[in-house]
Amino acid sequence: KDVVGKVADHLSPAVAKFAVCLQPVIADRAEGSYVWTTDGQKHLDMSGGIGVTSTGHCHPRVVKAIQEQAAKFIHAQQNVFTASVPQVALLDKLRDICPEQLTRFFFCNSGSEAVENAIKIARGHTKKQNIIAFENGFHGRTMGAMALTTSKTYYRANFGPLMPGVFIAPYPYCLHCKARQASPSGNDWYTVEPCMPGFRMNYNDRQCCNGPLEAVKWMLTQQSAPSETAAMIIEPILGEGGFLTPPPSYLRGLRELCTQHNILLIIDEVQSGVGRTGKWWGHEHMDGVDADIMTFAKGIGSGFPMAGVATREDTFDGIAAGQLGGTYGGSVLGAAAACATLDVIREEGLLENANERGAQLVKGLMQLQQQFPIIDVRGRGLMVAIEFGGTDGSLSAKYGTAAAITKAAVKRNMLLLSAGARETIRFLPALNVKAEEIDQALNILADCLEEVFG
Ligand code: PMP
Repeated sequence: KDVVGKVADHLSPAVAKFAVCLQPVIADRAEGSYVWTTDGQKHLDMSGGIGVTSTGHCHPRVVKAIQEQAAKFIHAQQNVFTASVPQVALLDKLRDICPEQLTRFFFCNSGSEAVENAIKIARGHTKKQNIIAFENGFHGRTMGAMALTTSKTYYRANFGPLMPGVFIAPYPYCLHCKARQASPSGNDWYTVEPCMPGFRMNYNDRQCCNGPLEAVKWMLTQQSAPSETAAMIIEPILGEGGFLTPPPSYLRGLRELCTQHNILLIIDEVQSGVGRTGKWWGHEHMDGVDADIMTFAKGIGSGFPMAGVATREDTFDGIAAGQLGGTYGGSVLGAAAACATLDVIREEGLLENANERGAQLVKGLMQLQQQFPIIDVRGRGLMVAIEFGGTDGSLSAKYGTAAAITKAAVKRNMLLLSAGARETIRFLPALNVKAEEIDQALNILADCLEEVFG
């Protein structure tokens, strides 16, 4: 075997490689929405490094910011200094875009770390232990975050015992929801309030609108008393779990329960944040849902490791200096990359682009739906998914369909991700993806659908 052939023999086989069909694929360079591998192939990237490359691969302004910062100061450890110059600038920019009640920031390196720290902050502040998380959620792979993750069993299988004090509540899964389909765009469930009972199709009460909220209320009565519940942690739009959005009344209901019982609401914006949905934060699409704690990562650094937790002013009360930290947290290079990223998103109109290109993608997918009625289309901004579940519950795809589609896409040089335990494909292109790149993706997808269903 040559060097490339051997590499897989020495890497952990426990990391799934979705772009590998037959032989090893070695990443070489990237620009915008394209990636080149060492075999000379050029790939259209609809995975965005799992929703990370917000400004596209290697945006010149992000590259320049990292290069210039690297020449000045690489490691200004956060326990040594009050802050670094890039952090000062970043705080300013974050204050501008974050919900106004979130005024305190803690920086770290990854989404999982942000979640771990959010849990520590919630427990440390409330002096309560229990955390309510939600079905289909993904919050990370570290021990604590894994215990909150239920999008697939294999993220946790054999890794227990899991962090205690975690209770899992239902999350509305509005597939086949007639009310959603009756909404003005046929795809806009933000405007849809709880389904009428008659609107329910194949799914039972636990998954449809009012049912889950009732279940959370019962959870606080039967399993985790409010006096023992520190926080609820929820993704405003499911990420890894399949890009479903709960009706706004669900999140508002949770907010009310949290306020009523002195429980903190943690909104995990790791995947849905930083412009991904066409607004800075996914939960901004819903009125009346204010976070006490918000986590962010992924898109904030355009690929450079950077993450954080934003909290209300008093949330750190009760937590002593030294209780949080981390050698690399809030690194200067990460902060510099984040500053450049936020500037590019704002100055190059990427929120608008996310909305326009997202609408183009959804429209194209709905056209494909005419030909392949098994496709359910959903999305906001450039967080768009198709589930092979049909629109009315009469069709369902066999296990492995989504994997077959991603494989067919990779064969055609398009990087595409599946999502969740159901048969779902997700699109997470760069927020500056071009119209012709979306057209190209739709054309390739049409071929893949033809191959798998034709
Ligand atoms: N929270 C959410 C909502 C995520 O989507 C992810 C990553 N997919 C994480 C947390 C974990 O982030 P990381 O992989 O950076 O640890």
